[in-house]
Amino acid sequence: MSKILAITNQKGGVGKTTTAVNLSASLAATKKRALLVDMDPQGNATMGAGVDKHELELSLYDVLTGGCRTAAAIVHSEAAGFDVLPANADLTAAEVELMDMSRRESRLREALAEVRPDYDFIIIDCPPSLNMLTLNALVAAHGAVIPMQCEYYALEGLSALLQTIESLKASANPNLEIEGLLRTMYDPRNSLTVDVSNQLIEHFGDRVYDTVIPRNVRLAEAPSHGVPALVYDKSSRGAVAYLALAGELSRRAKQAAETA
Ligand code: ADP
Ligand code: MG
Repeated sequence: MSKILAITNQKGGVGKTTTAVNLSASLAATKKRALLVDMDPQGNATMGAGVDKHELELSLYDVLTGGCRTAAAIVHSEAAGFDVLPANADLTAAEVELMDMSRRESRLREALAEVRPDYDFIIIDCPPSLNMLTLNALVAAHGAVIPMQCEYYALEGLSALLQTIESLKASANPNLEIEGLLRTMYDPRNSLTVDVSNQLIEHFGDRVYDTVIPRNVRLAEAPSHGVPALVYDKSSRGAVAYLALAGELSRRAKQAAETA
């Protein structure tokens, strides 16, 4: 059965989508069956995985509002090497429609239950807010992966996310864990970056991944070619870092299974 991870942080521009796409690619490259779920109406993860958001016959909108089965909306990206449950601006309407539905926070969990046996990992790219879409992702997930840019305001807003996770753990999703905090766009020459990074480790200990994602232009360029960095330039520092993250994730999952 698959492990479901929500890539989440209500701050925009911290590397959620970059992480969701490149982590999915790295898991696929290590022979894990991966599904990327695009939970952001901007559809950046969809495009970054080589699926045209303007040409979708079915999307996550249809799945969440009961218009089709989950499998019917999933497409395989040949270019990226993994499956995608794509999204576009229609998803904004789903957020509104969900408000009037029963079990509105559990729609994604129920939808993913239909395809869970087909995957080792399901990676959900969240929008930059703590809205109903993000709640759906956190109710569906076993773990939250929180990308963070190590800058002065990085910790601001983190407490709101942590509180949301705690309250979901006590209610709709007792299985939810903070899977890990991921330092993104990391520049070790910047002393502020290093200070904030040290604060994170002090506060969160081994919840902070050992793997750091460097600032690397290949990661920023790859989406315009509709492929992950691993396909665009597989020896780039960015691609190698996300491969390392996939390795760390798999190792941790294995350790957790052994001690359980
Ligand atoms: P979010 O999904 O959190 O809003 P994105 O993944 O879209 O963040 O990243 C924001 C911008 O920063 C994008 O233009 C992306 O290409 C760029 N970016 C993300 N991670 C890196 C990195 N490690 N190095 C360089 N650019 C990055
Ligand atoms: Mg994004």
